[in-house]
Amino acid sequence: MIDSRRKLLTVALGECWHDYKLSQGRGISTCSCGNKGMSVWDICTKANRTFSDADDYEALREKVVRNNLNKFACYIWSGMDDGERQQDALAYWLTLSPEERNETICDFIKANLHLFPKVVEYLASLVTIQPPSTQIASGKRMPWEEEK
Ligand SMILES: [Zn+2]
Repeated sequence: MIDSRRKLLTVALGECWHDYKLSQGRGISTCSCGNKGMSVWDICTKANRTFSDADDYEALREKVVRNNLNKFACYIWSGMDDGERQQDALAYWLTLSPEERNETICDFIKANLHLFPKVVEYLASLVTIQPPSTQIASGKRMPWEEEK
């Protein structure tokens, strides 16, 4: 699973994603959680969930799937093709590996953001506002502006 999806799932669980910078040479290691120095090496480098194992699936099952079971079952069913729909959607989903299930849970969250306000807050924090281009700042006309 790629980091951006791992971060999103971490936020959905209400946990802290450790965005750390390790010291190179004489600098001091720092982390978004506030840790500094050796504790970044000791704690933060091992703290982020991988979402590739059953433990991380269990956390998501408890916080995301169980709390939204009917919507989740409908989401799984809508993603199945006609042949697969002969089976029970959740039973089929349970045959996937923990990592595949975690990927599906991530897709479910992204498709149902209204259910996850913390994730919406997190995604909004990623949007950066671009400064006006130098062309506009210098007073040049944009192509759609009429000459008078
Ligand atoms: Zn940390």
